[in-house]
Amino acid sequence: MKPTIYEELHVRPIINAKGIYSSLGGSVPSPRVWEAMSVANRTWASMADLLTASGDVIARITGAAAARVTLGASGAIVLGLAACMARGDGLAMERLPETDGIPNEVLIQRRHRYRYDRLITLCGARRVEVGDLRGTTIEQLTAAINESTAAIFVPAHLDGTDGTVALQDIIELGHDRGIPVFVDAAYLIYPVERIHELSKSGADLVCFSAKYFGGPNSGGFVVGRPDLIRAVANGDFVSFELGAHRVLGRALKLDRHTVVGVVAALQEWLETDHKARFEGYRRRVQTIQEHMEGIPYIRLMPMCFTMEESLESQPVNCLHIQVDPGGRVTPLTIDAALRAGNPAILVHVRDSALIVDVEVVRDDEAELIGRRLREVFCGAESCQYGHVVRP
Ligand SMILES: *Cc1c(COP(=O)(O)O)cnc(C)c1O
Repeated sequence: MKPTIYEELHVRPIINAKGIYSSLGGSVPSPRVWEAMSVANRTWASMADLLTASGDVIARITGAAAARVTLGASGAIVLGLAACMARGDGLAMERLPETDGIPNEVLIQRRHRYRYDRLITLCGARRVEVGDLRGTTIEQLTAAINESTAAIFVPAHLDGTDGTVALQDIIELGHDRGIPVFVDAAYLIYPVERIHELSKSGADLVCFSAKYFGGPNSGGFVVGRPDLIRAVANGDFVSFELGAHRVLGRALKLDRHTVVGVVAALQEWLETDHKARFEGYRRRVQTIQEHMEGIPYIRLMPMCFTMEESLESQPVNCLHIQVDPGGRVTPLTIDAALRAGNPAILVHVRDSALIVDVEVVRDDEAELIGRRLREVFCGAESCQYGHVVRP
């Protein structure tokens, strides 16, 4: 048999029971999305036309005034904040990340600091923290605004954090003072009404990541004010090639199939029967659970592993495997054994438990995970089904 590309490269395939992580390749486009991407791959198009047309469709189905596909939510943050700083001035856009003479401060509440705020500074902006670990008041935010303020940045998933100013109040403040509000809503895509609400929230720019709705891993989009979306377009790689200015978006180039994949995946996500999606998770969790029946010193609990990496009871998307101390295995030894296999199986390890997230696990992979878990828990010699293993 012809070796697979992974075999040729000597890269071990992985069964991903952790969820959507860019370090594992992020997302898996569905057959429908893959087909659209494949058509785009076979067929040339003007990228200017493709980006305009795809932006129009995304604006229509999200209810936003305007939209643009970007290289992930990250690309949207970089180009969106560049647009807020350059304010339509092509020469200023070309000079970025140098910001002499233009507003370059992006305000963020101290308790809103998060992993991806690193991207704020990529376009040359200065990230200015407002308030402290106890919180931030609207007075502090108001006082932080000056002639250098380019935007106020809000990670939407942290909206409502104790002690912070709410997004709606920030939007009002921004409008009063003429400061654009940029919102990272990368994964706030379910319930799908969230997408519409955020798109119509009055925030000036709102970005989403396609990795979370089954688009290409490098895809994303930004919605918002038409003049700012035009400025995003004027900063991107098409403008670099065709426009008057050598703008920074050249480094954030998109493929035809990525653009098409983002639109197709968003359309599919908005039409998806999400109840059936959750039933699928439950079914895969149950498959794994059935393979583990009769194994002593563990407790199995279907649970929800959230985007914030915490555990809740609903909706089920993972199997929580509590391992009693004193047995001959620990979560760490199980994890090591799962990783050592081919394909490797990756799960989460939390203190005295393993978390098997099935969101991107196929039905056939769930079978394999169940069998392998039984093997590593029982030891190869005593893993027959129905056999009760002594700890
Ligand atoms: C993943 C993620 C991003 C980055 O999105 P990409 O599309 O991978 O660039 C930004 N913000 C949050 C909250 C994310 O989870």
